Amino acid sequence: MKLLQKRIVKDGQIEAGNILKVDSFLNHQIDVSLLEEIGKEFHRQFAGQTVNKILTIEASGIAIACIAARYFQVPVVFAKKTRSLNIAGDVYTAKVESFTHKNTNDIIVSKKFLSPGDRILIVDDFLANGKAILGLAKLVEQAGATLVGAGVVIEKGFQDGGKRIREAGIDLHSLAIVEEMDTEHGIRFREETL
Ligand code: 5GP
Repeated sequence: MKLLQKRIVKDGQIEAGNILKVDSFLNHQIDVSLLEEIGKEFHRQFAGQTVNKILTIEASGIAIACIAARYFQVPVVFAKKTRSLNIAGDVYTAKVESFTHKNTNDIIVSKKFLSPGDRILIVDDFLANGKAILGLAKLVEQAGATLVGAGVVIEKGFQDGGKRIREAGIDLHSLAIVEEMDTEHGIRFREETL
């Protein structure tokens, strides 16, 4: 998605530890007009697929999922992160190692909000090692729901999450794939996302 790539080049900051900081338009301050274009693009990419719910993970995924949901006209469910799991029985749960915080969270979704008949689209801001999306996919599986696919705003193609998700058979659409990034040469995108 050209508009997104341009914005990443203009405002993204490359940080230590393979982190791309986009907090001026996606992760802290939010450019809602850009999010609208992102939501529209997810809707276009999954056109023809029946989706009745969008699933994401708190916190950064929520805004993206909500705007995308306006185009799909479906509700959003976000998985909550908790350090220690003390809610039993009525939730689906998976363990997710955080790429940015280097800790492991239990992620939970109430059983009330995922059902066997659901057709779920997972949406998230970044894809690095794939732990967040694979954790969300586990919740969908536990519910007996159908995973239609996953939409990611920025995939870091030099990390192996994309490969893992695709090998797991998940229909993954990333709006921008960063192939390489370093402070000296800047950011290079994978051609097919242009
Ligand atoms: P994964 O689970 O694929 O390893 O990492 C994805 C999660 O880590 C995303 O939900 C995102 O919040 C965070 N993340 C991973 N890489 C980056 C990055 O380069 N920049 C930012 N802002 N978040 C990232």
